[in-house]
This record gives sequence, structure tokens and C-alpha cells, in this order.
Amino acid sequence: MSTFKAPKGTYDLLPPDSAQFLAVREAIAAPLRNSGYGYIETPGFENVELFARGVGESTDIVTKEMYVFETKGGDRLALRPETTAPVLRAVLEANLHKAGNLPVKVWYSGSQYRYERPQKGRYRHFSQVGAEAIGAEDPALDAELIILADQSYRALGLQNFRILLNSLGDKECRPVYRAALQDFLRGLDLDEETLRRAEINPLRVLDDKRPEVQKQLTDAPLLRDYLCDACKTYHEEVRELITAAGVVFEDDPKLVRGLDYYTRTTFEFVHDGLGSQSAVGGGGRYDGLSEMIGGPSLPSVGWALGVDRTVLALEAEGIELDIPSATSVFAVPLGEEARRVLFSKVTELRKNGVAADFSYGGKGLKAAMKAANRSGARYALVLGERDLAEGVVQLKDMESGEQTAIGVNEIVAELESRLG
Ligand code: AMP
Repeated sequence: MSTFKAPKGTYDLLPPDSAQFLAVREAIAAPLRNSGYGYIETPGFENVELFARGVGESTDIVTKEMYVFETKGGDRLALRPETTAPVLRAVLEANLHKAGNLPVKVWYSGSQYRYERPQKGRYRHFSQVGAEAIGAEDPALDAELIILADQSYRALGLQNFRILLNSLGDKECRPVYRAALQDFLRGLDLDEETLRRAEINPLRVLDDKRPEVQKQLTDAPLLRDYLCDACKTYHEEVRELITAAGVVFEDDPKLVRGLDYYTRTTFEFVHDGLGSQSAVGGGGRYDGLSEMIGGPSLPSVGWALGVDRTVLALEAEGIELDIPSATSVFAVPLGEEARRVLFSKVTELRKNGVAADFSYGGKGLKAAMKAANRSGARYALVLGERDLAEGVVQLKDMESGEQTAIGVNEIVAELESRLG
């Protein structure tokens, strides 16, 4: 072991388990690519103000969890705690929204950083795949995103997840509700910090997990009863479209989210096998975010799915993804001359698209065959001195154990035909 360890709240992704992570990312990305979403990548850090304004000054993310630093040039930056605000910043900066083709639909995949209290499923560095549809107000777009996330989870074989759905209203009806909720909260027996939160961001109090708080919230006014007609109609349409797609969801009138910029449609994906960190993904509409960061009005909707927790959800359901071995052929040279010949054959195989690996370090036959086994390769190529003299190589089928001699010059053609 070295003197150093991965920082608290982080962990390394190592082979072979890392293959599960790649497969999860791919499974989430595939339906998006298939539905008109283009790939976007933004820097791992941004001006701290982008998050302060975009995520909200009163959120835990901004007040407690951001990794903020000052550069030598005097810029105040933050490692990104989420990627919606950066994506919108990038789209506005590049004027993608002016290209005349709204909504701008993009997806991303990458690291997020939050200084949280670490526990299983909650890390300081974690990974999300996200999708954003920017610049259109259309219930079909909200429905599309929910349907695509559902499709990703189903493609992975997950079953024990639920979709929670709510509407947070808009700038017409939310303020009325907010005032009513504040009135209600002021009459409760709450600690000082929670009372302060009730003044700044009362909806977030609904999200308080403590039983002594939850108990008092049973009779809290619900946003559902305050929605304006436009929000009601919009929400009903989203519900109908998802239902028609055969996606099952639960109405959750108390669902709010930690980020300030959500309006109307809000949803969360929870998995029942994950204990307290049960949210595997979430998202919603954020019609006001663009204006909050200095852009024009651009109603938008998006989600972020957590890769780490999706992997934990797979484990909880006992699902092992069927990940084919990366290596098809493992080459074992015995002796100097064989090494040169076989190494060039391996290079040729790789150029022809056959995944091949090589026994390095001058191993003997036994150790080299062990390595061939571990690699998961379907075939081994063994080249000894006598084979070399005869111009042949032993091709071993690692599944059946069957071994045949083939001409050294036929290696590529033979393996290509066998591997299809
Ligand atoms: P959020 O950006 O907070 O809406 O989170 C979206 C998803 O990212 C969550 O549903 C989780 O799956 C994942 N996530 C958020 N925070 C963490 C964390 N600290 N550690 C691991 N995954 C996280």
C-alpha cells in the first residue's frame, strides 16, 4: 500500500467492477442517443456564482456542500455539485438556443462533487448521467424524459424502483402556496434553524426527514390544492402521456427537491433496496433558471441519474450485468523468437479489430495459461520453439479445451472467422 488513500467520501473504480459502471452509464445514455439528445461536456469547475444563483443561495448544496476555491488569478471557482446550471450556461454562451431549433436536447456524463457526510450511497465524489431539454414548454417533453429514464432502468433489469411525481406550480401559483405554507409552519414547534428555513425556503421543510418534523406536517397545505389552471392542465397532460406509455408512477404531493430552480413537473426515482439513500435519480422542469443566470426566458426540463446508486440498486436486486470479456484472444509465446513473432501477430489482430492480449514478462507456460484464463479470452495462441520451426501455432479453445495447430500466417483469418 502507498502512503496515500482515496480522500474521505470517495472510492476508486477498479476492474473488473468498473465494467459495471461503464455498462450502467451506457445503458442510461443509449435511450437518449436514440431520442435526439446530443452529447455535451462542460468543465469540472465553474464560477461559484453560477451555482449560487442557479442552484439557490439557501440550498444545502450551496451553503454547505460546495468545494470552493480561489485560483492564483483571483477567480472564485467551485467544483461542480451538479451539471444543470453548467449545461445551461454552456448552451447560452454558445447561443445554441438561437440556432432556431428548440428544444436544445443534450445529455452529459460525469463527476459531481459535494462535501456531504459520507455514508453508503452518499459520497463526496459521485457520477451522474443527465439529460436536459432546453427551451420548450411542452408536457410531451417532460413525459419523454421520464419515459427514457424508466427505459434505462428497465434495460438494466431493475424492477424495485418507483417513480414519484408532483407539480411545484409556477410563478403564478407557487407564491400563494408558499405564503400559506409559511403561515402553517410558523405555528409549529420547530427548532430555530428549521424556522429560519421556513422563512427562506419553506418548501424544503417538507423534505425534512426527521420524524418529529414529519409528524407535524401531516396537515400541511399541499401545493396540489393551490395549482393554477394552467399548471393543473399541464400536469394532467404529463400524467396522461406517461400513463399511455405504460410507465407506472405514484403521485407524491409532498415531493419537493433540494434545488431552488424547479417549477411544475418534479419527479424522483427511488429504489426500495437502498435504505436511507434511496433516490437513484431525479429531475423536473426549471422554467426560471435561464433568467436567474442572466439568460432569456427558456423553459426547460431535465434529470440526473446517479450512476453509483444505480450500481448499488443492481447489487440490491442481485442483478449481474452480462458483460462480455474484453479480451478474445490471449497470446502465449515461449522463447525469444516466439515472442517477436507472436507480438507482431497480436498487433495485427488488434488492427483487424480482434481484442487481443499478450503474456508479458517472459512467463513460463503454466503461469501464462493462468493469465490467459484470468483474461476471460475465448482462445489462447501458444507458440513454442518446435511450433516455430514448423511454422505453426497452437490455437486453444479455452471453453472446450480443444487444441489445433494452424499456420502462423493463418492466425488472423482463422480467428476472424471463428469469432465472427
Ligand atoms: P440531485 O442532483 O441531488 O437531484 O441528485 C440526482 C441523483 O444523483 C440522486 O438521485 C443520486 O442518485 C445521485 N446523488 C446525489 N448526491 C449523491 C451523493 N452524494 N452520492 C452519490 N450519489 C448522489
